[in-house]
Amino acid sequence: MFDPLSWIPEQLELLNSLERRRAVHTRATQQGATITWKDGTLLNFSSNDYLNLAADPRLQEAAQLAITREGWGSGASPLITGRGEAQTALEEALAKFEGTEAALTFASGFAANAGTIDALTDRGDVILSDEKNHASIIDGTRLSKATVRVYPHRDVAYLENLLKQCGTFRRRLIVTDTLFSMDGTVAPLDQLADLADKYEAMLMVDEAHATGVFGERGRGLCEQYGIEDRVPIRVGTFSKALGGHGGFVVGSRALVDWLVNRSRPYIFSTAAPAANAAAMLASLEIIQQEPERRVAVLAMADQLRVRLRELGWSLGDSQTQIIPVIVGTEGLAMDLSSRLLKLGIMVPGIRPPSVPEGECLLRISLSFGHTQQHLDTLVDAMAQIRP
Ligand code: PMP
Repeated sequence: MFDPLSWIPEQLELLNSLERRRAVHTRATQQGATITWKDGTLLNFSSNDYLNLAADPRLQEAAQLAITREGWGSGASPLITGRGEAQTALEEALAKFEGTEAALTFASGFAANAGTIDALTDRGDVILSDEKNHASIIDGTRLSKATVRVYPHRDVAYLENLLKQCGTFRRRLIVTDTLFSMDGTVAPLDQLADLADKYEAMLMVDEAHATGVFGERGRGLCEQYGIEDRVPIRVGTFSKALGGHGGFVVGSRALVDWLVNRSRPYIFSTAAPAANAAAMLASLEIIQQEPERRVAVLAMADQLRVRLRELGWSLGDSQTQIIPVIVGTEGLAMDLSSRLLKLGIMVPGIRPPSVPEGECLLRISLSFGHTQQHLDTLVDAMAQIRP
């Protein structure tokens, strides 16, 4: 009998033979600096829980109270009846925290990026996108009917050349991650803001990995660069340093009203549970009250970079809590990752499609939950596995 899906096992087999087949794993404990995994207890350098808030009891308590008050499911999209008091309180607190007129929450950071790009651009517009932007930005550019021009990573001269040729488009949108999630580098935000001014472009940034970690008050790299007023569209996620789930956009009231009317993932997706919003409200409080968390993570990253470079590892241009150990081939990256695993340390190997061919790496991400002893253990292991 004809099996219409028989091509899938064949393709999976192909992935197998290329050693590119991925599988999901199940963590047996809460997220944290150490986790229990199928291979036992591991030192965890693989999460985006940079401030160690994912399992914080204060978030749990806030969520529990919200469940008691509002129940679990939101039951509808936000424009219908899905939005409760917790979501509204979170958006108000977020706008206050970010110093913007308004904020809008999405079911995920992915939806926030893709749904914002699509809502802001259309046929006749042009999007200028860094080649290392996150998949959710890339998919947003694919959803949009606008023309897309990709510029080499952080190459402002190339971008300016592109912009010079884009005068005939109705609108221009420059979009970039502020902190690139795979190589830990930072976008040249002040220069991008200059170009946006000069060529009358909209500038949209994704602070997913920077919120909570950078800036004096933890608002991210735009705060750190002192350019928040020059970036009209700022996206973030609750899913990394804030230890929760969901995405957001902050900016003017008009921007948020436009997204409410035009952003399809916002309009057509069920609102996140109130419990998540309540936990994220607690998290926002914590990141403001406890700046020592971000200071400690960034100091650990500085220390680790020095020690890994002393061992001869190549770390690219990372200036953040994400430290790539650049090894080149996929085989080497996966082999080093599994050798670390055997030593009880979880550091994922990153390979295509997450990075280009030949630029495979080990991605070390640090958390406030790591101790000096954890760092020492990692450095010892990195010395042992050095090819
Ligand atoms: N932007 C960046 C830079 C990311 O790394 C991610 C997730 N890895 C997202 C957006 C999507 O966020 P979320 O996980 O909340 O969907």
